[in-house]
Amino acid sequence: MSLVAIVGRPNVGKSTLFNRLVRRKVAIVEDVPGVTRDRNYATAEIDGKRVTLVDTGGLEPYSEDALTGSMASQVEQAVSEADLILFVADAHEGVLPLDREIAEFLRKRSSDVLLVVNKVDGPKHEDMVTDFYALGFQAILPVSAEHNLGISDLRSEIADRFPEAEEVTGEEGEEESVRVAVLGRPNTGKSSFVNAILGAERVIVSPIAGTTRDAIDTQVEVKGKAYTLIDTAGIRRKSRVETGVERWSVLKALKAIDRAEVCLLMVDAVEGVSDQDLKILDLIVRGGRGVIICLNKWDIVDKDHMTFDHTRKEIAHMLGPHRHIPVISMSALTGMRVEKVFELVDKVHEDLGRRITTSKLNDFMEAAMRELPPPMVGKKRTRIYYATQVSTKPPAFAAFSSYPEGIPKHYERYLVNKFRDTFGFEGVPLRMYFRKRKRSGENEGED
Ligand code: GDP
Ligand code: GDP
Repeated sequence: MSLVAIVGRPNVGKSTLFNRLVRRKVAIVEDVPGVTRDRNYATAEIDGKRVTLVDTGGLEPYSEDALTGSMASQVEQAVSEADLILFVADAHEGVLPLDREIAEFLRKRSSDVLLVVNKVDGPKHEDMVTDFYALGFQAILPVSAEHNLGISDLRSEIADRFPEAEEVTGEEGEEESVRVAVLGRPNTGKSSFVNAILGAERVIVSPIAGTTRDAIDTQVEVKGKAYTLIDTAGIRRKSRVETGVERWSVLKALKAIDRAEVCLLMVDAVEGVSDQDLKILDLIVRGGRGVIICLNKWDIVDKDHMTFDHTRKEIAHMLGPHRHIPVISMSALTGMRVEKVFELVDKVHEDLGRRITTSKLNDFMEAAMRELPPPMVGKKRTRIYYATQVSTKPPAFAAFSSYPEGIPKHYERYLVNKFRDTFGFEGVPLRMYFRKRKRSGENEGED
C-alpha cells in the first residue's frame, strides 16, 4: 500500500486538498453521512496508481503556539509510515515560523517531501512561490486546491513516485487460501483467537513473510481449508508498551485491510461496539473488503440480561446502513464457534466473487421500480432502463438511466437495501453506479 500523508499548519488547505485528490467521478452508495463525517483516510486512484491518503490535520491539532518543537504523536506516526509527504503551505501567508519548524521536522524524518504551495489562485500569487524555496525542498508545486489549479500536475508528480498498482496476490502455493485480517481494539481477544486456531489445528505452515515490508502472515488450515491470516506479527508477539499507539492502530488496520479479502472485526461482547469499531468498519467497507463482526468473550456475558438476539438488534441499530454485516458470538478462550467463524468467512468470500446475471438483475430492477417508482424531479421521472454487474470483489453494478442525476440518495439506498433482501450478500460491500444511458448508435464503451 502506498501511503501519502498531507502535512502542514492549520488552515493552509490540507483538507481541501485531501478532498480534491480523493474526489471520485461517481458517487458510492455507501457514502453515508454521519458514518463518514470525520474522514481522515481515503484510498484514491491517482493517475492509475492506488494510494492511500492521510489528512493529518484531522488527526490531532497542531500546537498553536509555534515553537513547542514537537509534533503531535499521531502526525509523527503518519510521517514515519508515509511513502510520500505532501507538505502544504499557504501562498497568501508566505513562510511562517511554524512552516520552518515543520520543514525542519520533515527533513529529519522523511525522505520524500513534495512542497505544495496552496492558494495560488491566479497569476498574481505566483510570485509568492519563490519565497518557499527558503524551506529547502527541491520539489515545489503551486496549486489552488479550491479552484482546482495545478492539481493535475500534482497528481502526476504523486503518481510518478509509485509503482504500477499490482494485484494483491498471495505467495506461491497460496492461491487457494482466503486472506483474512483480524482487526479490533486492544484486548478484544485477537491474539487469543489466532492462538486458538493455531493451537486447535496444529497445521501451521511456518510463518511466511508477506509482500509488504515487516508484515508477517500466517498460513492456517481449518477443517481442511487454507487461510492466510494477514499481518499477525503484532498480534502474535505483542508488547505491553503498545498503549500509546492504540489510537494510531487505524493506520495498521488500513494496511491489513488493503491486503485482506475478508476482515474479522473482533469486539469485546461485554463492552459492545465502539465508535472506533465503526470507523474501522467504515474503512473496511470503503476498501471493498468483506467483513464479519465477532462478538468475543461470549462465555462471560450474562445471558440473563443479554441474549444474542437482543445484542444483534442493538448492533444492527448502531450499524445503520451496514446492518447487513454478519455478527457471530464466540469465545476464543473456550473455542466456542471459532470454526463457525470460518464458515462465515467462506460464505462472505464466495459472495465477494458472486455474479448476478443481467436478466436476474433486470427482473429485480423492474420489480423494485414497480414497488416504488423513482421520484419525480420537476416534470421528469427517471427510469432505470437496465443494469448489469460490472465487476466482483467487491460486486459492482451499473444502472443505466435517462437522467442519473435525478436519482436521489434515498432511492439509491432503497435499491441497495432491496437488492440485499433479494440476493443476500451479507458482509459484502456493494457498489452501485448510476450512469447515463447512451443513445442507440453511440459507442457503449466505458466513460
Ligand atoms: P486545513 O486546516 O489545512 O485542513 O485547511 P482547510 O482545507 O480547512 O482550508 C482552510 C481555509 O482555506 C478554508 O477556508 C478553505 O476554503 C481555504 N482554502 C483552501 N484551499 C484554498 C485555495 O486554493 N485558495 C483559497 N483562496 N483558499 C483556499
Ligand atoms: P488482543 O489485545 O486483542 O490480542 O487481546 P488478547 O487476546 O490479548 O485478550 C485480551 C484478554 O482477554 C486476555 O486476558 C484474554 O485471556 C482475554 N480473552 C480473550 N478471549 C477471551 C474469551 O473468549 N473469553 C474470555 N473470558 N476472555 C478472553
